[in-house]
Amino acid sequence: MPPTLAPGILYVSREFETAHHLCACGCGSKVRTPLGPAEWQVDETPQGVTVRPSIGNWQFPCRSHYLIQRGRVVWSDQWSEARVRAGRQRDQERLQAYLDREASAKPSSWWARFRRWLGV
Ligand SMILES: [Zn+2]
Repeated sequence: MPPTLAPGILYVSREFETAHHLCACGCGSKVRTPLGPAEWQVDETPQGVTVRPSIGNWQFPCRSHYLIQRGRVVWSDQWSEARVRAGRQRDQERLQAYLDREASAKPSSWWARFRRWLGV
């Protein structure tokens, strides 16, 4: 990743499974989106890049929320604190469900053994 990011550019590292960009509102905050089946996904289309799901910068003062669709920023609605918390909860559950699926697909993984050892 370059030390300074240019606005309007999405830096994708498949190797490190992460993408960086400067917040689309122009506030200068660096936004890091981990990539993975249960996190963000980057699709390259002939018109530009699409990032899913939406990017909510609740941790920054600007609290901007937007989608990147075919290389364009599509602004989304502001979320209340409660909705942000509910969204985080959903993300956690999705990640956990993914890990559980992975663990049951590979019963000999350390994670499955660890869980058996825990008795859960
Ligand atoms: Zn911003």
